Amino acid sequence: MREKTSIAVLPGDGIGPEVMKEAVLLLQDIEKYDKTVSFEMNEFSWNSEYYLEHGRMMPEDGLEKLRSFDAILFGAMGDARVPDEVTVWEFIMPIRKQFNQYINFRPVKKLSGIHSPLTDSEDVDFVIIRENAEGEYSNSGGRLYDHTSEAMVVQNTIMTEKGIRRAADFAFHYAKDNGESVTSATKSNAVIHSMKFWDEVVEKAADEFPEVEFEKVYVDALAAYFVQRPHTFRVVLASNLFGDILSDLGSALVGGLGISPSGNLNPSGDYPSMFEPVHGSAPDIAGKGMANPIAQIWSTALMLDHLGRKDLHNIIVEAIEKTLAEGYRTKDLGGEHTTGEMGEAIRSNVRKQLEEVKV
Ligand code: ATP
Repeated sequence: MREKTSIAVLPGDGIGPEVMKEAVLLLQDIEKYDKTVSFEMNEFSWNSEYYLEHGRMMPEDGLEKLRSFDAILFGAMGDARVPDEVTVWEFIMPIRKQFNQYINFRPVKKLSGIHSPLTDSEDVDFVIIRENAEGEYSNSGGRLYDHTSEAMVVQNTIMTEKGIRRAADFAFHYAKDNGESVTSATKSNAVIHSMKFWDEVVEKAADEFPEVEFEKVYVDALAAYFVQRPHTFRVVLASNLFGDILSDLGSALVGGLGISPSGNLNPSGDYPSMFEPVHGSAPDIAGKGMANPIAQIWSTALMLDHLGRKDLHNIIVEAIEKTLAEGYRTKDLGGEHTTGEMGEAIRSNVRKQLEEVKV
């Protein structure tokens, strides 16, 4: 990691700012205790409120401003007063696409002390690697004869050899480095053009990694296997839509949205990568101090890992587990602790760890 790491902080809407506060305090603690790191954090208040005032989700040069940062830490975006297509297609998607964040990386790990409503298995520990740039979310298509009895719609899935291949290569490299297997989610029995092509390209990548065990599984069966035998998966590779759906199932498998982190990665490092919780702005609990900050804090840990500090990532994840073992629970986990209490308890465990390491 560079001596001074620049981080663009985008808290967003709803519970975004509440959970982001806990993550920022954590980074400030880390730089106090670990003299090898220093963060320059710049906060941008681009959100739905900004849209209502300015008619756009970010300033015209917003992406240019973000470009110069080492990483982007994002909270959540969504507000009943702004259509979802606006927040998604004028904020999240432009960042993912402009910065070539073609991998969405989502750990599905059951932390000790968390009860899963879906499985008794203790060993749930895999990652979903989702193609994040094209596929079903290519935004290609249109309507004809709208509002008439002849109305018709076309929604195109665009998959390119390059796009599939780079996602597959990332998954196989990750599996190889971690001694793990790859499961590819497909539906080539019914979606016979795009998903067949997906299979062919993924199989070409698989051939180049003979040491990595590989299987392809139809996505409907895979959803059932997630629940029936989640311990058998290590790296799940999926297209944009399948990965999106499987990720929420993965979240539910390990204790809910309040916990699950994600990274939108530009593996080449040419552009900043963006780290965000899987959950959205949760307007039903916003402003009540009830939100679980774990997903945001864990996303911050993924960011530090991406920036070359796996040690700090591991310290944070261990601190989260320790905090849960101590009995801390926000409402979504069946307890009464506030966002701030959970955040502080995790930071306290991180500080203890950093003091022990004494850097
Ligand atoms: P958005 O439109 O921004 O996606 P949403 O309400 O549709 O918002 P989420 O924000 O993901 O979707 O929330 C889904 C459910 O999970 C809500 O009931 C919400 O309260 C709960 N939830 C999400 N994140 C958290 C969290 N960090 N802590 C506690 N509960 C959460």
